[in-house]
Amino acid sequence: MVAKKIENNVFIFAVENAFLHKGKASEGAVLGKALSSDPSLKDDIVKLRTHISKAVKDANKLSIDEMETLLRKENPDFFEKKEIAERELPELPGAEMGKVVTRLAPEPNGYLHIGHAVSFFFNHYYAKKYSGKLILRFEDTNPEKESTEYYDAIKEDLAWLGIKYDKIKRNSDDIELFYKHAESLIDSGNAYVCRCPVEKSRKLRYDGEECLCRKNSSKENLELFREMKKTLKQGSATLRLKLDMKSKNTTLRDPTIMRIVEAAHPLQGTKYRVWPLYDFANAIEDAKCGVTHVLRSNEFQQRDELQNNIRELLGMDSPHIISYSRINLEGTPTSKREIQKLIDSGKVSGWDDPRLATLQALRRRGIVPETLERLAKEVRMTSGSTTISMDALNTINRKILSPTAKHYFFVPSPEKIEVKSKGTFYIPKEDAKSMKKGEIFRLKDLFNVKFIGKGEVEFDSDKVKSNTKKLQWVSSDSIETEILVPETGKTIKGLSQKEVGKLKVGEIIQFERVGFAIIESTGKPIKCILSHE
Ligand SMILES: [Zn+2]
Repeated sequence: MVAKKIENNVFIFAVENAFLHKGKASEGAVLGKALSSDPSLKDDIVKLRTHISKAVKDANKLSIDEMETLLRKENPDFFEKKEIAERELPELPGAEMGKVVTRLAPEPNGYLHIGHAVSFFFNHYYAKKYSGKLILRFEDTNPEKESTEYYDAIKEDLAWLGIKYDKIKRNSDDIELFYKHAESLIDSGNAYVCRCPVEKSRKLRYDGEECLCRKNSSKENLELFREMKKTLKQGSATLRLKLDMKSKNTTLRDPTIMRIVEAAHPLQGTKYRVWPLYDFANAIEDAKCGVTHVLRSNEFQQRDELQNNIRELLGMDSPHIISYSRINLEGTPTSKREIQKLIDSGKVSGWDDPRLATLQALRRRGIVPETLERLAKEVRMTSGSTTISMDALNTINRKILSPTAKHYFFVPSPEKIEVKSKGTFYIPKEDAKSMKKGEIFRLKDLFNVKFIGKGEVEFDSDKVKSNTKKLQWVSSDSIETEILVPETGKTIKGLSQKEVGKLKVGEIIQFERVGFAIIESTGKPIKCILSHE
């Protein structure tokens, strides 16, 4: 009987999760929910997992409509709770008012994208919520990949996002500290210098086999580490952590924590030639900065254990780590390598091409920072896959812009018409072509005209008549305007009303019957990019 009840609850949880993730419920999420609803279920976790596995499969088979029908019947609170929950993000585990420290930890090796923005908003949100601190920390210990332009670009993007941090620091300022910790690990027999060729150590790591370097004494290792800092060539030696070569988590198979890099660092130049790898630097810095909560996407999940291990060996506390799925934008890559490929092949014009998901591209396209913040609150910190469609992003942006965006008339492919004693006007060619003799049209918000013959119209009346087709128009003082449509790469050429000429670069407006657009450049013609309809 009890078992039956659990089975049913688990199925409802699975359907809820499937509903939230468009038919892709995750076993992990359902397990978490089940355990928090009844911690005693832990006692028979094997059985519970079997129930969940089946429930998730069954739930994922339902259509979204079937899920909704079922949930409204079985758990009507779900929809109400969901709406309330969307407004605020959940509490953080172990968070104390005034004591929470979160961090933004970008590597200055490329431009930020939508995934960074969402992640940054989470960290910003919690630092604010608990009156804590937010640190911007550059993870810049990979001299070959990093460049000064990216430090500035990241700060610029953060300013645009409206994210203020309390402190800024760079891992590359702490190289001496990393040396100190490396030496203490060597000293305690927890790290050794490996001089095996890359291929060999890769194979040994894959096979779960130890190499002979592992047997060297601490004294020998300290001497070799000193040699690394002075004369050894890049690639000829690395410092590895002595963990477990047979671990199922392959990141724990004696990972490299420091290596020789002879290239100049953008800020430190050639002052150092031994550099920490990401996990080593990151683990130490999180502890050193007093970070209490690490909120990051789950591509790092495998490394959490390694980072916690490093801190444990150094006698440091570990923060709470909260992982969530990384945000992608449908149809456009966020990985640096893939974007670079598109740029190199000429398929996109650069990092700020409005079809991309970099923050520079989104900003250039007229997506406002509030949209990304709201997106973060809507997607929340889920473990399921999170691919956002461009349409969903546009819908949020439209909702934010609509109440305040100024409206303007725009006439594509303008056709001139003379209205006797009223002046010269331009209307869209397409409208002009569809006119029939004697038909009455309204120049929107102005007056009605009657079509006489090709290019000839006459004033009809002022009165608004129902069923009269309304046309966009501009007068003879209108200005040449071009609107780039990012998806097609095509430009709509036309005339906009003269007030558009007074707008500044970066203003986002609404062209009636076209959509929202951002001013890219003023001058003749005025150039805009279409944000969305
Ligand atoms: Zn070795």
